[in-house]
Amino acid sequence: MEMEMERTVEEEDGGREEEEEEQSYAKYYAFSPHAHFTATPAARRRRRRRSRAASVVLASAAPPRPAPPVPTSCCGWRHAPPDFLSFSGASPQALLRTGGVRGKMPKKGTKSRKGTDDEPKQEEKNKLPEHLEVQRTRVVCKGDAPTEGFQYAGAFAAMGIDNSVSADKFCKNFKVVVNRLTEDDMEFDMIGIDASMANAFRRILIAEVPTMAIEKVLMADNTSVIADEVLSHRLGLIPLDADPRLFEYISENDVPTERNTIVYKLHVSCKKGSPRLTVKSGDLEWLPEGSQLPLASPAQSGDKQKTYTSFSQSQKDILEKPLGVKFKDITIARLGPGQAIELEVHAVKGIGKVHAKWSPVATAWYRMLPEVVLREEIKDADAEMLVAKCPVNVFDIEDLGNGEKRAVVARPRACTLCRQCVMGPTGEVMGPTVEQVELRRVRDHFIFTIESTGALPPEMLFTEAVRILEEKCERVISELS
Ligand code: SF4
Repeated sequence: MEMEMERTVEEEDGGREEEEEEQSYAKYYAFSPHAHFTATPAARRRRRRRSRAASVVLASAAPPRPAPPVPTSCCGWRHAPPDFLSFSGASPQALLRTGGVRGKMPKKGTKSRKGTDDEPKQEEKNKLPEHLEVQRTRVVCKGDAPTEGFQYAGAFAAMGIDNSVSADKFCKNFKVVVNRLTEDDMEFDMIGIDASMANAFRRILIAEVPTMAIEKVLMADNTSVIADEVLSHRLGLIPLDADPRLFEYISENDVPTERNTIVYKLHVSCKKGSPRLTVKSGDLEWLPEGSQLPLASPAQSGDKQKTYTSFSQSQKDILEKPLGVKFKDITIARLGPGQAIELEVHAVKGIGKVHAKWSPVATAWYRMLPEVVLREEIKDADAEMLVAKCPVNVFDIEDLGNGEKRAVVARPRACTLCRQCVMGPTGEVMGPTVEQVELRRVRDHFIFTIESTGALPPEMLFTEAVRILEEKCERVISELS
């Protein structure tokens, strides 16, 4: 009897202890990212007792316990809310080890449960410490060439930062700012875009935007010193002033018509006794009615003479402006006295992937926006040395009064990343200067330059590249579905 009494008192005391223990853990529960699957020691003891009792009383079907609440996070992931992270001060690696993050990517289209009103606040909360933000959004270029930065989508997941490339982020942040636009070239900033996308545009511009270029050369006479093959090659590279969007592609078995072929003729000669003659691209003459070279003699007198093309109407009737060459001063050949060239060329539509002559750009290239940061003040003689070292005048001298001067970053955009500013006279990396000057690139900001060959204006080329990429995406989507 006494023994039973003692056990009851002991159990009562144990129950109180458990309650107190429970309360002290309540705080932990409020913040723990994995509260829903971590039990307190008291709860674990209770569960053990219950399971022992259940083995004796099999019929006592207990009602199912409600599912523990899942912690709400900033972005709908099942990971720790940012509050917890700042409270715990745990490193991303430590959180990953302890299960603070489930290592699960959010489903496409997953949104914060709190709605969109508090998004700016959440963004503010989700900001990484400065040094990590630099690693996430910048490429830091070291003096001896290697670059640093994190591109892995889950690199900062433990801190509630989604580093992945997503369509939502792209739609929210993408911006184009045109800095320079001339007839032949254009420079613009693409902001909020991944390098893969910028590179896709570059490759499409070089290899997939169609143009018209000379494909066939019908040589009637060539007494110049230039061989037929070399002459044909030179003719093929002449940019034509013809909008490719007005023409169709021609395949091997197609008949050349006014819709798929442009014909030019070149007939120049240098008379005996006259000085040498330079043949220029401007000497090419457009033939809107098609080829003038006879293909075969007509079967009967009165039949129409067949030529190398079958135009059913003049191209003058279907085109708004006459066709020609973009630049009239490109030298094709030099003729001596008594020499002549007589030929006809057929231009068709094609893309740079097949042959470079169809590439619509002289070049299309991009670079990440440079960022030059002075981590320490550089004064007086050091400042002057720094300014003198930069070949593109990124730095300026600021007069501080009292005869003091300091270096300031005046034109960071001009930086070419030559790294001269962190190098010594013989090319070695200088320790102290590396500490003082940090060379960075903004990871999602590209300065894009397009130089057109003249077939289409540069802004039109970019629009065409966007259209081609869109068509490719649609093709992939339809294939997948
Ligand atoms: S890397 Fe070259 S261009 Fe850029 S700031 Fe230094 S010296 Fe100037």
